Amino acid sequence: MEGRLSSVKEPLQRLLSQVEARQDELVALLERLVRFKTPAPPARNTEEAQRFIASFLQEKDFEVHMWDVYPGDPNVVGIRKGAASDQYKSLILNGHIDVAEVSDDEPWEQDPFIPFVRDGVIVGRGVSDMKGGLAGALFAIQLLHEAGIRLPGDLTFQSVIGEEVGEAGTLECCKRGFTADFAVVVDTSDLHIQGQGGVITGWITVKSRQTFHDATRKRMIHAGGGLLGASAIEKMMKVQQGLQELERHWAVMKSYPGYAPGTNTINPAVIEGGRHAAFIADECRLWITVHFYPNETYEQVTREIEEHIGYVASADLWLRENPPQFEWGGSSMIEDRGEIFPSLEVDPDHPGTRALIHAHEEIFKEQAVVDVSPTVTDGGWFGDAGIPAAIYGPGNLSNAHAVNEGLSVEQLIQFTKVILQFIYDWGHTRK
Ligand SMILES: [Zn+2]
Repeated sequence: MEGRLSSVKEPLQRLLSQVEARQDELVALLERLVRFKTPAPPARNTEEAQRFIASFLQEKDFEVHMWDVYPGDPNVVGIRKGAASDQYKSLILNGHIDVAEVSDDEPWEQDPFIPFVRDGVIVGRGVSDMKGGLAGALFAIQLLHEAGIRLPGDLTFQSVIGEEVGEAGTLECCKRGFTADFAVVVDTSDLHIQGQGGVITGWITVKSRQTFHDATRKRMIHAGGGLLGASAIEKMMKVQQGLQELERHWAVMKSYPGYAPGTNTINPAVIEGGRHAAFIADECRLWITVHFYPNETYEQVTREIEEHIGYVASADLWLRENPPQFEWGGSSMIEDRGEIFPSLEVDPDHPGTRALIHAHEEIFKEQAVVDVSPTVTDGGWFGDAGIPAAIYGPGNLSNAHAVNEGLSVEQLIQFTKVILQFIYDWGHTRK
């Protein structure tokens, strides 16, 4: 057994040393990805980059699927069938090709889409979030291909669109039935193995069945007026107060290891209401953002909100007859002003997580950190689809979305080695 294992491992050791020796090629691949201008918003600009990745994968004998999620924003999924698919574990590597927007007034030293290396740091939009992760995983695939290694298990690579604007690039992959025994989202995690809480946005609408003129206000608020009517704006204040009570209750009663208490917030982000100063406000809409913990689902927390606001409304004589309406989520912050990032819980004892921990520890010779991301990624869609998953990628969140976004070359190399080792190990693991 020992002897067999080391003979299996021997080609891997050679490949790992190549990551170091060929780091210029790895950095050049990342720079190539950064030069594709793929900020979202405005989005609809990833076609060229996605074609590049599609042909990169095709050259490595992947079967490639490419389809428009939106015009100008295609998803790419490449599958390299294993030599013994039915007996060995399959893997999805997932990352988003879009990057955070760059506004004109940001004081970048240089064009953010012309990357450069200085003092061991690559600078450019998206190096940390998350073209570094994509480049490292693609380079690992290239090294395996060049060494003529075909894994026994299936390997799927997904390059998706729209993550920065809450679009369902990864959800579309799951809906099309692409699946595996384990998935790794190579998004910004500073090489921690992470789960995440979730986010869902929603609109709460208070609406009057009738529209009243401004002059009728005295009759709906004073003794003897005899008119049952209300300002939707004033009634929304009760809804807002109810949300605050629930938010505080959650902060007091719920917790999750790795998060500061009260991370589960309900943010009243945008309010729109009323039509004109000559009328009583007949409609008011509140746009909220809800953060919840990894062990909760968006279905669960939205139910809690609807239930609590339902009680608030039933204690109000007008809201009782005109109950608030809820619309949850959405498929894009650009298209329909809504998004969902499901939560992801990482099971530290899942064989996939254990293999990732092992790969990290082989390369670093120190203990891997398994914790939770303070932000959200597409990882939740895998959890939602019942595919065990973890987030693991280079770069840190202080660089993500930042001016002069940087990524250490050293960390990019380390990441590439770990993911290479992990792909190799997991693809050689029996089902
Ligand atoms: Zn990201």
